Amino acid sequence: MHFFTLKDGELHAEDLKVADLAKEYGTPLYVYSAATLRRHFKAYDSAFTSLRHMTCYSVKANSNLSVLKLLAEMGAGMDIVSGGELHRALAAGVDPQKIVYSGVGKRTAEIREALEANILMFNVESQQELERIGSVAQEMGKTARISVRINPDVDPKTHPYISTGMKKNKFGLDLETSLATYRRAKELPAVEAVGIDCHIGSQLTTVEPFLEALEKILSFYQQLCDMGLCIEYIDLGGGLGITYDEEEPPHPAEFGEALAKRLADLPITLILEPGRSIAGNAGILVTEVVYTKQTPSKHFVIVDAAMNDLVRPSLYGSFHRIAEVAPAGRPEEDVDVVGPICESGDFLARDRQLPRVESGEFLACFSAGAYGFTMSSNYNSRPRACEIIVDGENVTVARRRETYDDLTALER
Ligand SMILES: *Cc1c(COP(=O)(O)O)cnc(C)c1O
Repeated sequence: MHFFTLKDGELHAEDLKVADLAKEYGTPLYVYSAATLRRHFKAYDSAFTSLRHMTCYSVKANSNLSVLKLLAEMGAGMDIVSGGELHRALAAGVDPQKIVYSGVGKRTAEIREALEANILMFNVESQQELERIGSVAQEMGKTARISVRINPDVDPKTHPYISTGMKKNKFGLDLETSLATYRRAKELPAVEAVGIDCHIGSQLTTVEPFLEALEKILSFYQQLCDMGLCIEYIDLGGGLGITYDEEEPPHPAEFGEALAKRLADLPITLILEPGRSIAGNAGILVTEVVYTKQTPSKHFVIVDAAMNDLVRPSLYGSFHRIAEVAPAGRPEEDVDVVGPICESGDFLARDRQLPRVESGEFLACFSAGAYGFTMSSNYNSRPRACEIIVDGENVTVARRRETYDDLTALER
């Protein structure tokens, strides 16, 4: 459920007509719904109220400052994967004690910045990283709190590019190496191991892989206890899927219940790192039809949004529902919706049934709030899209459209 609905035959974002927004702010245009962001965060966060927990929104899904601020005001922590994301989270006013730092390649400067900010913990992904964190912290006269990201070797049954918890993935450490890493952490004077972390993948549509991973974590947790290492945090990562097409992912409440059953009696704080399930269906990408063209084999709808604005279809073959902003009731035809970029892989939809549309009309590409703008680029020297947040009948320009001068500002 979200707040992008047809009212009087026209698509609205909350109380405002999307067509009016497109005319006022131009296209391509990312439109986010504040009410949807709030509802998703609340639904997720309240699913775990029976447990001590912290919901650390995954910044990479949608890192716009206004989005982060809205979530921070609701009490969200953040899961970051770079110094840049730390900068954003701090700028948005997130409590550093609610920031966890994941990622396989944290550089020395980034580690220093995170220690300086006094974040809650680092999710360590290799033995070398542990050594690096240990020596940077010691140099700074600080103690680094860490989790080791374990790779539980669980198949999340999602797209290979977004599956992260299988043996062949670069993420985390196998159980045996993880154990050795905790042993080593105990020896390091400037390191305190406080958690166990895992993140098995994204767009999961059942709870089973989470539960499978949790079982492995719990037996590992016991092993650490037996070693005299009492862990305070279990971080299960993000990954809950959303409906793009006909997927029926579990509601956060169902996910929460399943986890609560297993965790109720443990003296731990559960950390969750949802990204897509908070932001995905809270955003649409609005685009204008530039031309239509019929070739001997295909009918193309050429729009002004492209793979540089929304790369998921090109990168993962992802499905995004596309619909007219003001449905005209024309008969459907089989089309490819493509952008202006000089790549055959530049498409938003392929072989899609869409009502016939005409040049100058607007289309909405749904479920674009996560991994949409954050994965965008300037390829083909296309200025990046404008992002707005609608809240009831109010609009905030969360990021102005880039200009040609922005494109060349850093160059000489
Ligand atoms: C990407 C990522 C997430 C968020 O995943 P979603 O599928 O968007 O919920 C959480 N944790 C880590 C470590 C990630 O890399």
